[in-house]
Amino acid sequence: MITRLFACAALASAVFAQTKSVSDAEVRRVHRSTILIDTHNDITSRTVQGLELGKPSTRTHTDIPRMKAGGMGAQFFAVYVAGSYTEGNRSAYRALEMIDTVRHDIIARYPNDFLFALTADDILKARKQGKIAALMGIEGGHAIEDSLRLLRQFYNLGIRYMTLTHSNTNNWAGSSGDPKNVGLSDLGRQVVREMNRIGMMVDVSHVSDKTFWDVLEVSAVPPFASHSSCRALANIPRNMTDEMIVALAKKGGVAQINFGCEFLSQKSADASAARRPVMQKIMAEMDTSLPMGDRRALAAKKMEEMGMKPVRATLADIVAHIEHIRKLTGSVDAIGIGSDFDGVGCVPEGLSDVSQFPNLTRALLEKGYTAEEIRKIYGGNLLRVMRAVEGGRGRS
Ligand SMILES: [Zn+2]
Repeated sequence: MITRLFACAALASAVFAQTKSVSDAEVRRVHRSTILIDTHNDITSRTVQGLELGKPSTRTHTDIPRMKAGGMGAQFFAVYVAGSYTEGNRSAYRALEMIDTVRHDIIARYPNDFLFALTADDILKARKQGKIAALMGIEGGHAIEDSLRLLRQFYNLGIRYMTLTHSNTNNWAGSSGDPKNVGLSDLGRQVVREMNRIGMMVDVSHVSDKTFWDVLEVSAVPPFASHSSCRALANIPRNMTDEMIVALAKKGGVAQINFGCEFLSQKSADASAARRPVMQKIMAEMDTSLPMGDRRALAAKKMEEMGMKPVRATLADIVAHIEHIRKLTGSVDAIGIGSDFDGVGCVPEGLSDVSQFPNLTRALLEKGYTAEEIRKIYGGNLLRVMRAVEGGRGRS
């Protein structure tokens, strides 16, 4: 009888773990206890064109009122430099413009909402002041124009991570957008070592598989992936294989889950692959002075009229990626959040802008994740990587 009771209780708790009901108050309490650090947001491609982040917008995924509603603790703003800026050596110039939009149009303009953060401690300080910590990461290593001197100056301006490539292979690192699977050159190894020495996080999102493995070998401190998901669940080159995730976790790094539909769901990825050539053709015919986000939105609208809609991922897909890494590595220590909001055209139902992060908290609690685990996923793990990188400064 007792055995059967226990068996029933065990069964009940197993079922409970899948479908636990969670009150609104519990979601609020746990969400508020986290420091939610999103390591990739591309709204900067619009603020640099004049968008005011303080104004509520229905055309973007990000504005200050919605960031507050979403309970954000820290935002890494993307200093994105398109590969096209390598033509005529304008990459560093573009990086400076993008840094200026973060510092001038976002941080200086809204001092009551943002604190310019340079360290893990600054992120905690922002929380104490009731502000959102604002940080910067360069997306596209060609921004340094092959100069360690420029790399150091970008650090001095506040850059705290660099994604070694974008979709283009540069002179020292291979991109996942390049089928040749190029690794790090000698200069690339020097760049990684210099990043270690000055205390800039090494970001392996966008890099080729070969570059990923080279970074893992060269970097003295844990690297991280600022906006990449699991290739086992959505087979695209931008996502990470199980082998890569396990190795990254062993090194103490973190994979920050990307919310773009094609990063989350195979169906979305397949639909997106079919749409891509049509989309590219439409966008190629557009006025190139329009911001990339606007061009993408216009093209998406045109394609919808043609009956080619994207297949949307869901909140459950995000949870599936988190669950996949937890099972693969045996803990939540290598999981984080790198939404890619305003950098991707399609976002999941249930988590379609920065205000909807509490929906993820609810979904994770319902799945049986503890408050402690959610705090690690949302920011604790990334703070651990930041501190390791800060601690490694000057050593290599
Ligand atoms: Zn990206």
